[in-house]
Parts: sequence; C-alpha cells; structure tokens
Amino acid sequence: MTAKIATLHENQIFKSKLIGKRVFRIKLKTMFVDTHAHLYLEQFDKDIQEMMVQAQEKGVEKIYLPNIDSGSIERMLALESKYEGRCFAMMGLHPCSVKEDYERELNIVKEWLDKRPFCAIGEIGIDLYWDKTFFEEQKKAFRIQIQWAKEMKLPIVIHARESMDEIMEIVKDENDENLRGIFHCFSGHIEQAREVVELGGFLIGIGGVLTFKNSGKMMREVVESVDLEYLVLETDSPYLAPTPYRGKRNESTYIPLIASHLAALKGCSIEKIAAVTSNNSEKLFSPFV
Ligand SMILES: [Zn+2]
Repeated sequence: MTAKIATLHENQIFKSKLIGKRVFRIKLKTMFVDTHAHLYLEQFDKDIQEMMVQAQEKGVEKIYLPNIDSGSIERMLALESKYEGRCFAMMGLHPCSVKEDYERELNIVKEWLDKRPFCAIGEIGIDLYWDKTFFEEQKKAFRIQIQWAKEMKLPIVIHARESMDEIMEIVKDENDENLRGIFHCFSGHIEQAREVVELGGFLIGIGGVLTFKNSGKMMREVVESVDLEYLVLETDSPYLAPTPYRGKRNESTYIPLIASHLAALKGCSIEKIAAVTSNNSEKLFSPFV
C-alpha cells in the first residue's frame, strides 16, 4: 500500500503518453473539491494567489469556505469575490465562537443569510474539547442554525469535537426531508458513521487525519466500511495538514494527497475518487430541487 501511495503522490493528475518519439505529460480531467478550507485566515495573507494557482494545477477547482464568526465574514467574502466561481462562502457561527454574546452573533449570521445567497450554513455544531463553559449556549445556537437551514433549504456543515453523541441527539431530533449536510472532519467510529448514513441526507468529510499513522486508524476503518457515495474530501486548511506536511500549514493543494490515500484504501483509482467525491459535494451544495 505504501508504494501505491508514493507513486500517486505529487503528479497523480498527469499521465505520460508517448506520441511519436516524444513523451507528453497529459493532464487528466480530474476535478477535486475541497469542501472545507479557511483560506481567508491570515496564514494565507502572503501567498494566497500562488496557492490558488497550485491548487488549480493539481485539479482542485472548487473550494468551500466555512465561516467562523462576525470577525471572519468580511475577509471570507473578499476572498470569495476575488475567486468567483472557485471559492464559495458559507454562513454560520462556529461553536468555539459561541460565548456570552452568541445571540448578537447569531443575529449577524441571520442578517447575512437574508441579505444574499450562501452555499451552506456552516460551520456549526458543538465543541467540548476546548471549552465546556458555553455547552448549553452551543446546543441552542446549533439548533437555531439547523432550523434556519431547514427553512432556507440549505445544507449544514457540522463541526463535532468530542461531542458526537450530543450532536447526533440534536440532528436526529431535527432530521427531516429538508435537512442534509456534511459531518466535517469526521472523528466518530464505524457505528456512528453508519448512523450518519442512516440519517439520509448526510455525507462524511475526510481530511488529513486519514494519513496520520496512529490517530488516523479510526478514520481509515470508517472509510473502509462506508460507501464512497457518502464521502467528500476536505482539508480544514490551515489546520490538520496531511502527512508528510503534518504540523505545518495545511492548504487546498494537498487534496490529491488525501485522495490518493483514500484510493489506496478503497482499492480504486484516484480519478474515481475525484469523480465520485466531487459529484457528492456538487449534489449537496447545488440548490435544492
Ligand atoms: Zn473548519
């Protein structure tokens, strides 16, 4: 398996073809989607243009931008308009930004949702890893934003950290034919992955953790047991860079690296991974019909 990943590493979206006596490098029609990247953060201030060019060269054509809170909106929307047709903004309040003033923050989210179209409500959810002080408020904010998503027929992008049980309780309670979305950076076990699939409208976000030697074991078990139809690729840039960049800044350019690991686990080509996961995300983010 290691050899397979190694050969698929950097140039996997090109193939060599002998035409006459010359070898041509032909770009395959492989389109990847990064369903989760915070490219508007300051870690990208210096070289966003360069990174966007490199990402395109590697076939990463669409990038979905999850919001954090009122402090990130302006930068996110500026990036979206600079890369119109490649970057798509979501709107939502991140659970780590749910504090005393969460009602004011939610009002800002709602004003924006009423003002212009967004591709999703995200990222939203519950985070019990960093701080449990506002657990009750996090649950309330999550439920309110789910209800807006259902009313507006928008998908949700869920952040669950040490909170899968609490998240599932709310999602199951709110679940109906209008609720759909992504469990971003899925960290649950096989049984929880099956529950996600059974919800009906949800996909599982697979990122750099898949490549981690020890902590990636659970995610590898999950992808082996879940059909590709339920998986999407993501980086969560600038966080969670895949091996061999672990600990460094993550970027959308690394999506093919995650895809090559997924291809090795699924025993299929990286082109198939690209085609199916991109189709999954396109179906989710395109307007509800
Ligand atoms: Zn995120």
